[in-house]
Amino acid sequence: MDAVAHRESRPLALSESRTDDRFDVVVIGASLAGCTAARLFALEGFKVALVEHHDNPSAFKQLCTHFIQASATPVLRRLGLDRLIEASGGLRNGVDIWTRYGWTGDIAPLDTDGNPAFGYNVQRRTLDPLLRNLAANTRGVTLFSGCCVRALVQKPGLAYSIELGGRRMGQLCASLIVGADGRSSPLASLAGIKVRSAENSRFGALQAYRNVGLRRGTCSQMWFRGPEVGYVFPNDDGVTVIAYIATKDRLEGFRDAPGAALEHSMATFPDAPDLASAQPIGNALLVKDYPNLWRPAATHNIAFVGDALMSLDPLWGVGCGFAFQTAEWLVDILAPALRDGASTEAALRHYGKWVARQLAGHRFFILDFARRRGFNALEKLVFSAAAKDIEASRHLHAFGARLIGPANFLSPPFLLRAAWVNLRRPSALTAQPEAAV
Ligand SMILES: Cc1cc2nc3c(=O)[nH]c(=O)nc-3n(C[C@H](O)[C@H](O)[C@H](O)COP(=O)(O)OP(=O)(O)OC[C@H]3O[C@@H](n4cnc5c(N)ncnc54)[C@H](O)[C@@H]3O)c2cc1C
Repeated sequence: MDAVAHRESRPLALSESRTDDRFDVVVIGASLAGCTAARLFALEGFKVALVEHHDNPSAFKQLCTHFIQASATPVLRRLGLDRLIEASGGLRNGVDIWTRYGWTGDIAPLDTDGNPAFGYNVQRRTLDPLLRNLAANTRGVTLFSGCCVRALVQKPGLAYSIELGGRRMGQLCASLIVGADGRSSPLASLAGIKVRSAENSRFGALQAYRNVGLRRGTCSQMWFRGPEVGYVFPNDDGVTVIAYIATKDRLEGFRDAPGAALEHSMATFPDAPDLASAQPIGNALLVKDYPNLWRPAATHNIAFVGDALMSLDPLWGVGCGFAFQTAEWLVDILAPALRDGASTEAALRHYGKWVARQLAGHRFFILDFARRRGFNALEKLVFSAAAKDIEASRHLHAFGARLIGPANFLSPPFLLRAAWVNLRRPSALTAQPEAAV
């Protein structure tokens, strides 16, 4: 067991002073991706500076529905975070999905050992401070909270170093700078990296509650009905997040009272959660526009992870999982070069290729769906089969949990099975053939 995780936290805020120091790695942003990169690099024996512009140790990301895909569970284990999440009341998750073909059931996909795979539902209010504390208390990590990047200083040989601003001033030099500073990545702007974007035709509303009456058990639930998508996410501390996403032609009805509109819309789904005794926590949040954004994985001695690398439509709940995973990939690919004192150039190129291989297919499908109002023929085939057949459902959930990529998901044997199931099996009892799809 890693004793570091259980040491008393040292204060996260440092006194105002000037620092000029040399690190192996400087990580900008102490949220999911940044803390993961910082802790894993430090566990590999590197000296890491972790720079976070929030000064408050309890800061957390507000805009999230807290569903972490099963694809990230191996890295959560490697971090020692899985047991901390469970000790804090985080829930192992699965998801039951309704379409007009009926419920798919909460059928767990299998991990590489053939065991049922799961991710976690844990509020960011709980998760973010837990992970930041874990990273800050890892031997080798120095947290600069209340600090940001004022400028990038270019050194001879093209490598950048960081000019700190905020609570501490000074220069941080390192062989590698990691941009984990979220979707608007100020670091990428300073480095002159252009963001690429693609439209998202949907808006979203979300609200947290206590005392939600769940009609499909404690797994997460999701509804697809034409241009509408609904969600129920049970979390730690008895908090359930309800979310609704729809095409922007419905946005007008949400502008004045998003909470009321959210409840009204959710109530129309079959087996909708019972909100009669539910107490809202805070105000409903309305996300009017959330375009898909992505950047090159690396430039000079800078690499991007998490949302700074790719921030896609939240409809599919992949951002947290990919934040953890991209940080782990970066550490595994860069650590040997950093250890040998070799140039990071080739390793960063390798990281860029690896990220493209792992994520480009997922991004293609997510961008495509973000432009459409409902399912295409392939999606109809797959969801219809999943409502009738456990193996088809397991396969669909493996893709949803990002345990398999699009090529495996749409493999000819699976599509043949889906077609066979659709021809031979009767409709599910929960099907509503007249509903939109
Ligand atoms: C409505 C909504 C719902 C979502 N729901 C889900 C979900 O259910 N599941 C899921 O997987 N994903 C979800 N996401 C996406 C998910 O929240 C993000 O993908 C995830 O938080 C990315 O983590 P990150 O560490 O890369 O970036 P962030 O969490 O955005 O963290 C960036 C960090 O960088 C810091 N920072 C920024 N600029 C600077 C600077 N100049 N200097 C120093 N520090 C800086 C910030 O303070 C912050 O700590 C949702 C997104 C939205 C909008």
